[in-house]
Amino acid sequence: MWASHVVHHSSERLNLSTAFRQSLTYPVSGMWMFWLPLALLGFSPPHIVIVVAINLGFQFFVHTQAVGKLGWLEKVFNTPSHHRVHHARNGKYIDRNYAGVLIVWDKLFGSFVEEDLDVPCEYGIVKPVRTHDPLTLTFHEWRDMLRDAARPQSLRSRLGQLFGPPEKAHSQGPT
Ligand SMILES: [Zn+2]
Ligand SMILES: [Zn+2]
Repeated sequence: MWASHVVHHSSERLNLSTAFRQSLTYPVSGMWMFWLPLALLGFSPPHIVIVVAINLGFQFFVHTQAVGKLGWLEKVFNTPSHHRVHHARNGKYIDRNYAGVLIVWDKLFGSFVEEDLDVPCEYGIVKPVRTHDPLTLTFHEWRDMLRDAARPQSLRSRLGQLFGPPEKAHSQGPT
């Protein structure tokens, strides 16, 4: 999933155009699994597509530095402030605020961090990919992940390369 989502995070700027920086590989990495429960609950395909579209449309507006904090909305909804934190790679902010629409999930599960205006967000990924080539941007993490998984190692380690969190994979060496 990170091999796909890294495309969105590889921008070192955060603005509305970042929202369009998406990966072609989400169908492979299984993003559809997030929506599968709706189908299992009996919602019709058109209803699911509408919900996906509304969710995607909402995401567009949180990719901006032009909007400050939004009062009580910050308590309930994902906002530009919360999503700036999500895109930041500084230690205080990294791997936080996963919310799509409702920030309450991050608050419930302990992954919420408030944007501190004294600590500016540094946008991008820990190991920047310095290219504008769309193929490289789309596939670099897949390439690295598969290369690391192909190295001689235990099955457990190999599965960790493929299915573990990114910090367990190549970026931190063979730990
Ligand atoms: Zn984003
Ligand atoms: Zn993200």
